[in-house]
Amino acid sequence: MSDSTTPVRVRFAPSPTGKLHVGGARTAIFNWAFARANNGTFILRIDDTDPTRSTDENTQVILRAMRWMGLDWDEGPEVGGDFGPYAQTERLEMYKAAAQKLWDEGRAYPCFCTTEQLAEDRKAAQERKDPFQGYQRRCRNLDPAEAKARIEAGEPYVLRIKVPEDRGDVVIHDAVHGDVTFDAKELDDFVIFRSDGTPTYNFATVVDDAAMGITHVIRGDDHLSNTPRQVMVYEALGAPVPVFAHISMILGADGKKLSKRHGATSVEEFRDAGYLPDAFVNYLALLGWSPDGETTIVPRDVLASTFSLDRVSKNPATFDPAKLDWINAEYLAAMSDEEFTEKIMIPELLDAGLIKGPNDRTPEWLATLASVVRPRTKHLGDVAGICSMVFDSAETLPYEEKAVSKGLAKEGMATILDAAIKALEGVSPDTWNAEAVDAALEQLPDQLDAKKRIVFQAIRAAICGNLVSPPLGVVIELVGKADALARLERAKGMAL
Ligand code: GLU
Repeated sequence: MSDSTTPVRVRFAPSPTGKLHVGGARTAIFNWAFARANNGTFILRIDDTDPTRSTDENTQVILRAMRWMGLDWDEGPEVGGDFGPYAQTERLEMYKAAAQKLWDEGRAYPCFCTTEQLAEDRKAAQERKDPFQGYQRRCRNLDPAEAKARIEAGEPYVLRIKVPEDRGDVVIHDAVHGDVTFDAKELDDFVIFRSDGTPTYNFATVVDDAAMGITHVIRGDDHLSNTPRQVMVYEALGAPVPVFAHISMILGADGKKLSKRHGATSVEEFRDAGYLPDAFVNYLALLGWSPDGETTIVPRDVLASTFSLDRVSKNPATFDPAKLDWINAEYLAAMSDEEFTEKIMIPELLDAGLIKGPNDRTPEWLATLASVVRPRTKHLGDVAGICSMVFDSAETLPYEEKAVSKGLAKEGMATILDAAIKALEGVSPDTWNAEAVDAALEQLPDQLDAKKRIVFQAIRAAICGNLVSPPLGVVIELVGKADALARLERAKGMAL
């Protein structure tokens, strides 16, 4: 067990066999936060030993997702470090050297058993109800000279670890689950190197974690069952066993393991759906951890200073998209107007092709737009939809069918639009703003002896093409006098 004075070193070790999903992202966040909270080192290691399923592209996707979440790593791909390389495919020589050392020391041995032989042994163990059903240690006591001769003759073999006969039960002192005991019977002499010359996960991981001086292994609890075997490797290598913290699964609302069926699961999908990285990280951090059981807004710096393993729950966490939405909206609401305009609105407008550059419009115009867009934005992707009609012109504005049938194509609407045109014509271009526009339109219901709701519905439909846009006065201010009048004229063609 590493002692508490050793500087903390933790790692996130994704296998690049797909995108980074919510579960992996949460593991990364916990490791990052734990390192930051303890002035430790956060290492990113790419566990790409499965050549058939690992791709460089997936590695890039994972690195991008880590960067988007703002999880900076101190050692790893692209940043380097003293314990590299940080991809397992580049560390094969180290695994070979470690295995050779164990072999030389008599802590590992070659096994020539064929798959058929192993199956036969297993069947026999079952039939005689042997409590030990694992590998029957057939090659454990082979004469070394015989083993050498068979290897030289080209016979395929794997390398197995020699679990000491008197090892007894393995107790894992897990920081989340408490003490977990694994029966000695479950520990067979498992394979550490395959016959194709590649190391197994349980071996490579421990060689790396030991070589990289990892003090705490924080990972998903699907790996808890691998841990006793990994402890055997640490012991064989003579390396200190790190503290383990196995974090619970993430479930969907139906209580089943979170998967595609529940909707978006990859970090990329959440990014594209318009969540703020800070809100996303805040929400994921709360899946299994909480500062006090009630606080839901935990800014990144607070997470990085207060995270601790003793507040991590061993119960499964439930992914709740509504809570994520709520947290996202809180982060948006907490931004200053300037920050919202610069970081969110302008990039979204550029992305949607509504503006060509940040100087397309005056800062005042953009600030007015932000004042109506911001309170209506729940996801970044909402921005363009909320205000695209402002960027249209009288010629290009699309009219929703409902806006036409409810707001325009009714008896008396043409009269309302005519009156609105007259009222707006009376507003001087020099004082053209929401207040002046509202003041001019305000008198119309009385003047026309019509219901306020009907009058403004008609004007809204004419100006916006829909019935749900932001406050009308501001929209009319933003589109400008000439275009507002032209929109009303055009809508008259649809009015009765
Ligand atoms: N590459 C392994 C995984 O993605 C890492 C497990 C571990 O943290 O030991 O599941």
